[in-house]
Amino acid sequence: MNNKARPVVGIDLGTTNSAVAYIVNGKPKIIPSPQGQEIIPSVVLLDMQGKILVGDAAKASQVAMPDRVVAAVKRKMGSNEPVYMAEQAFSPQEISAMILRELKSYVDNAFGEGEKEAIITVPAYFTDEQRRATKQAGELAGFVVDRIVNEPTAAALAFGLEQLEEDKHILVYDLGGGTFDVSVVEMMSGILEVKASAGNNQLGGEDFDWLLVDWLASKIKKSHGIDPLKDIRAKSLLKEQAEKIKIELSSAEKTAIHLPLVMMKNNHPVGLSTEITRQDFVGLIEGMLTETVDCVRRAIADAKVDVSEIQEILLVGGSTRIPRVRELLTAFLGKEPRCDVNPDEAVALGAAVQAGLKSGELADSGLIITDVAPFSLGTSILGERQGIARNGLFSVIIPRNTTIPVTRTERFYTAMPGQTTVQIDIYQGEHELVKYNHSLGEFLLEDIPANYKDVEPIDITYRYNLNGILEVTAKCVSNDREATLTVHDALARDSKQQFVQSLDKLQALYENAPKEEIDEESEFDLSDFDIEDEEDEAGEASIEDLREEIGMLQGRLAAIMPDSNELQRRKIDKLKRRLEEAKLLENTADIQEIIDETTDLLIDLEMEDEE
Ligand code: AMP
Repeated sequence: MNNKARPVVGIDLGTTNSAVAYIVNGKPKIIPSPQGQEIIPSVVLLDMQGKILVGDAAKASQVAMPDRVVAAVKRKMGSNEPVYMAEQAFSPQEISAMILRELKSYVDNAFGEGEKEAIITVPAYFTDEQRRATKQAGELAGFVVDRIVNEPTAAALAFGLEQLEEDKHILVYDLGGGTFDVSVVEMMSGILEVKASAGNNQLGGEDFDWLLVDWLASKIKKSHGIDPLKDIRAKSLLKEQAEKIKIELSSAEKTAIHLPLVMMKNNHPVGLSTEITRQDFVGLIEGMLTETVDCVRRAIADAKVDVSEIQEILLVGGSTRIPRVRELLTAFLGKEPRCDVNPDEAVALGAAVQAGLKSGELADSGLIITDVAPFSLGTSILGERQGIARNGLFSVIIPRNTTIPVTRTERFYTAMPGQTTVQIDIYQGEHELVKYNHSLGEFLLEDIPANYKDVEPIDITYRYNLNGILEVTAKCVSNDREATLTVHDALARDSKQQFVQSLDKLQALYENAPKEEIDEESEFDLSDFDIEDEEDEAGEASIEDLREEIGMLQGRLAAIMPDSNELQRRKIDKLKRRLEEAKLLENTADIQEIIDETTDLLIDLEMEDEE
């Protein structure tokens, strides 16, 4: 790959999986991990050594250490809800930044160190807050992020590059792990335009897994009288199995379920042996799939086209491999969806096409992109609301969902007699009162001729481009006096302080993690996460690590206590006391000795429990 200027890459930051791509010889290609993986799970682990691991290794640890692993953080993007990992609170964008940092390491590997720009995709349905959080995550990861792109636009681009000569309407149906999105995209003379989007950012394959988990749990409840969902490990195990069963049912009509040990009850293993058919599974998820078809209907209606005018159906997202999804779409739209675009890679590849257009690499492709403004842009005015004149009303100049790039001008008039100055306040948002929207900036237009009120016309022009740069010009029509303000990044309005804090926090986390080089193969081996091996690699554990390990052992002891007999309880109490003693010690070797001794006895107890 050549590296003439700052490379621009395209990133699909998915709920379940993520990927990064770039244009090579005029074609989008995934940039794989050093181990050759094209797509990585969007899962983060903070391990016992304080090291961040992203991808398969983290996913493999979900059952063993659910409280150290974060998955599906995309669903929380834009909220202030803290996400806990190993009892530490993180913002959703900090966790996303860890995923993006992992992808950035692949990019650095391919291009060498240096500044990199990323175009990151988000569901068309994402709100302003969610987009800003995504952009911030990219910047925390060390990318320059100028542009956030809608996923359906990206998906259509992955496909559009091959089919430039045709004019058509494309329906992009994107059912991933955590979000559902459908868009009608019009392609005309190489111009792609999202005509309408609908969706639900809380619906996806994860929900199907949970429905299946409930189904499995109800079988266990029925035959054993206990609820496995009350046990965090049993719940994680069922979730992991549910996904496997679901994926199997995409190719098989039925599948056998054999789970010998889900949890313990009265010292006896509780398991499940049964069978599920595709029909049973479809019965569980049919309601959700019907909801997606309702969204398809709405998007087509909003795009003001007829069902018969949809020439192509593009499937994006792993969950579109469920045969029932294809059946429902074929029945509703009267044609088969295309199968030639890899549903897992389409978004990243399309983001790379966007990146190629931005960097100039695809300048000769004949492709032009438009997108839609994700929120309304406007100004504050004095106006009438419910019959009362009041200040601070929001007058929209570029409505949400307007195709961009766009230029719009609105004419306003001076509000006061003798007024020679107007203040232009720029806002974005959807509320009719500006105080509930986000302020992007303000400037003054001076030297307006003094006149009666409502006489001097002022033209306000908003120019909004694909890079999120908004230019606002105010012009006094009678004397051509102008003033302009450029808002460089309408998406970047987060407090600098919060950003710097997050940056420092992540830096400390990465810098304080053990520095030992993990060779590339061993990173994969970590999928069989083995705590003892990890310690061996890191050498002597710190006192904090050991105390944390004591906490884990205490947790394991507490977990087996309820199902233990009198003798076992006495042994458990003794071990608990030993661990309490260990907590007071300062010498790591002594602590380690007690941990080793306790671990051995605990394993014996756990095994007795299972017998
Ligand atoms: P995405 O967010 O696009 O990466 O999609 C991930 C989702 O697709 C997860 O919920 C996966 O379980 C699901 N998935 C992947 N492969 C299949 C398959 N063959 N059948 C059903 N669901 C699948």
